[in-house]
Amino acid sequence: MRAALGLSGAASRRVVFVLIDGARADVLRDLLDRGDLPHLARWVIEPGGLTVGTSVFPSTTGVAYIPFLFGRYPGTTNVPGIRWLDRAGAAERTGWRAQWQAARSYCGVQAGLINHDIHAGPSIFELVQESVAVCTPVTRGLGAGAHRIPVQRAVFGAAAHFLGTYPALDRAVSRAWLAAADEPWRFLFVVFPGPDGITHLKDPRHPAVLASYRAIDDALGAFAARVTQRGELPVFFVASDHGASVMREHCDVAELLERWGVPTLRHPTHVWRRGARVATMVSGNASVQLYFEPRSGRPEPRTESEIPVDLLDRLLGLRAVRLAACRDDRDGIVVRQGADRARLSERAGVIRYEPLRGDPLRLRTTGALELDDREMLLRSRASDLPDAPRQLLQLFRAPRAGDLVLAAGLGADFRGPWEIPEHKAGHGSLIADHMEVPIAASVPLPATPLRTVDLMPAMLEQLGVPFPPTEPRRLDGVGFAALRSAVTEGAVR
Ligand SMILES: [Zn+2]
Repeated sequence: MRAALGLSGAASRRVVFVLIDGARADVLRDLLDRGDLPHLARWVIEPGGLTVGTSVFPSTTGVAYIPFLFGRYPGTTNVPGIRWLDRAGAAERTGWRAQWQAARSYCGVQAGLINHDIHAGPSIFELVQESVAVCTPVTRGLGAGAHRIPVQRAVFGAAAHFLGTYPALDRAVSRAWLAAADEPWRFLFVVFPGPDGITHLKDPRHPAVLASYRAIDDALGAFAARVTQRGELPVFFVASDHGASVMREHCDVAELLERWGVPTLRHPTHVWRRGARVATMVSGNASVQLYFEPRSGRPEPRTESEIPVDLLDRLLGLRAVRLAACRDDRDGIVVRQGADRARLSERAGVIRYEPLRGDPLRLRTTGALELDDREMLLRSRASDLPDAPRQLLQLFRAPRAGDLVLAAGLGADFRGPWEIPEHKAGHGSLIADHMEVPIAASVPLPATPLRTVDLMPAMLEQLGVPFPPTEPRRLDGVGFAALRSAVTEGAVR
């Protein structure tokens, strides 16, 4: 069938995607410059390239995997965060079990629900039947036995979370990756949780974190040597799902609200909080979504005028908050920083940013700015919140997204320090330190800013697998071929 579609050349190609969870683009670059990642240099970057791309908001594990596997933003698949509230399920009249389930958290026993919660067309695992994955939290579409080391992932993963034994988990991934080298897969998805896990416990540049990058490079070298013996090398894609930064201030919004006299539904132990007036759902931990009157059973999200003004003003006054956003009463989104305020909206792929007071997204404009999606990406990359216009718009496409979202500034998050273990570093916000990620491939990269959501269509191109023309929900990402022709035509600079 593929030959009949004229895809026979690409149909023989195989693709390997290596996800280095939480790898910072600048840390990876420094290690490469020092010659510490020789296999990544030789097998991936020299034949192809490396660039700094942007992830999605919230920039957090699992949620930020959706672009790689579905070619869609988390918001357009209605998964707004690693924690979110099912407004109907949280209603007063539902039982304790329904209320627990309604306070969704993919950190812990509800982790597997993400596969069911993602509202999207086929995953790359479904489109490429001969897929194998190692250590992934998102498994939808994988055939029987195609998810490797699920037990080790569960056992080592839990141990690593509390004991910090991430190197053991990454070693298990390396072994499973090498063991898969001789198998007849066409798409191989390999996840290394170590860099992110160790970063949370220490900092993004700690020697133990750097050692985890080097160990992944060794695994890449061993895998490449094994497949080279058998013939043609696969096409490699290497990327991370978010960056990370050191946390100096844990501004626990739920505890603050309680102190302000506002009963707050929250994880892990207050999901049945009596008389809750607000629910706080933290992702990363540097972003949080707030749901007002969470027991009302009202399924519709609230818009700006329905959010208590006094609470919003107090939250905007917090030093930790870089940006707040909510749905506008009529259309689009309102973004705020302190007294600064602007409106974001979109029509036919053109994003409109309308500063009402100040310039909260720092797009260097005093008047309304209307730019095509990729032009807006380029423009925003020079700000401290790269791709914020698109990322806020995509998040609020999710009916499940909170009524209000807060993104933390550099050095702050919204949870702890009571958390076990304490997050000494983290991610989840819209700031460049969290949004910027390395993107490398062993095929040439287009000369235009990339998003992680572009990689799924780029991998399908390499595999010669078309996205089903019958699928009504188109991809959010753009493949390399289309990006390249847009650059040639001057549509994207
Ligand atoms: Zn992650």
